[in-house]
Amino acid sequence: MGAGANGTVQWCTEAFARLLQCTVADVVGMSGFALCLQLVGLADGVAALAAGQDSHAEWSGPLRMDGSGNAPCWHHAHMRRLPKAALASGEGGSAAVLRLSPGSEQTSATRRHLEDRERLLFTSRSLAVGEMATTLAHELNQPLGSLANVLRGVKARMVTLKAAPSPGGMSHLEQGVQLALDQVQYAARIIGRVRDFTQSHQPRRELVDLLALLHSSLTLLDWDLARHGVRVSLDVQALSTQDGAPVAGDGVMLQQVLVNLLRNAIDAMADSPPGERRLSVSSQVDDAGEHLEIAIADTGCGIGEDAAGQLFMPFFTTKPTGMGVGLNICRSLIELHQGRLWFTPNEERGCTFHVALPLVPDAASAQLPRFHDFGGTCP
Ligand code: ADP
Repeated sequence: MGAGANGTVQWCTEAFARLLQCTVADVVGMSGFALCLQLVGLADGVAALAAGQDSHAEWSGPLRMDGSGNAPCWHHAHMRRLPKAALASGEGGSAAVLRLSPGSEQTSATRRHLEDRERLLFTSRSLAVGEMATTLAHELNQPLGSLANVLRGVKARMVTLKAAPSPGGMSHLEQGVQLALDQVQYAARIIGRVRDFTQSHQPRRELVDLLALLHSSLTLLDWDLARHGVRVSLDVQALSTQDGAPVAGDGVMLQQVLVNLLRNAIDAMADSPPGERRLSVSSQVDDAGEHLEIAIADTGCGIGEDAAGQLFMPFFTTKPTGMGVGLNICRSLIELHQGRLWFTPNEERGCTFHVALPLVPDAASAQLPRFHDFGGTCP
């Protein structure tokens, strides 16, 4: 349906009119005010568009229709303001297009909830990338430094070759260019890794190579680990796909969980004595043979009684720059995989976070495609 600058309906489809239980002729010419009375919630959208600065402003939200004698029904609305150029010449004000799709109160509330979580997840991923910027700068420095050296060498050889051309000199030049290309590709892989980590996408369910995900998560944090002098020990034989412990899920989400837990462990050790910063990752299949468990243990500050009860609540943080959504999101992501996330205190120092993910039965695993880790194809 489209409304002109004077606020009346200019045109509408038959489907739109049917949703309002009217004919097209009834709807066309209807005033914006009358439409707002029929569609409870539309006034919010009109106000939001009117307040927007951008001439292409958009609004989405749920609308309620109170049918005569019937239970109210819900629609999802999407309204877009048309650019000034789309108005007939001489028309002032602004025009808008409204699209309705049928839905129930339940589904629109669920959708809103999912959208909110997706936004939150994206924000926290972007935040993680913000923190990762230092690591990225450090990692990129290496190939870029090599590239500059190689190119300087190539330039010097070109000058020599110009003065005294020789076939041997040409092959040296080729080698130099190849070296430069290698470094550029290496830098592109570093950037690609961060880009894949932040991309928002539909959840997938594929066989995942958790060992590859763990290694790439540690690589993303390697500079932080080195900077804080953290020693890493791995006992993760059970994660190897060769050992037949298949887990299905979304690789990007599972990596988000791993990075968050590893990062928290590194942060928790900031005040531990330098020689005692240890991060241990272990894995095992549980006694019932139904779950694969990953344990991430640190020798950090540990979790006090007060914090223990609030740890998974949104916005609980003890860090000056923390957002406090990481653990809450991690738990939702693991539960989305029908798994569990919890923590236990360590005997000596620090704590251990545990992730349990259901194993895929053999027959089912044969049906699932394998998740391709962004670092390369999983075996
Ligand atoms: P953020 O890292 O932004 O604070 P999280 O939800 O990931 O958000 O963590 C919430 C809080 O849980 C942290 O601020 C910290 O107090 C506590 N926490 C998480 N992991 C650990 C850990 N390994 N050791 C001690 N405290 C932890």
